[in-house]
Amino acid sequence: MPSFDVEVEFEIYCSKCGAGLCSNGSTKSIRNTNRLDMEPCEKCLEFAADMADGEARDELSGKIQELEDEIAELKNRLEV
Ligand SMILES: [Zn+2]
Repeated sequence: MPSFDVEVEFEIYCSKCGAGLCSNGSTKSIRNTNRLDMEPCEKCLEFAADMADGEARDELSGKIQELEDEIAELKNRLEV
């Protein structure tokens, strides 16, 4: 089959935060197939990790509050 080799230059941006991701990618050509491997956006990964930390902290604060309420209730029962 006749074919042409065409070089295409393009830029890549994170669709979520808009950060430029050109340095996060690499291209390969394997058996006439072009492949682009991308690293995830570092800003979004950090943001997701911060969100997860915050959610975990909120969840623990809620559990601590529940336990403190239970302890207060048990103390009240003992004093009655
Ligand atoms: Zn991003």
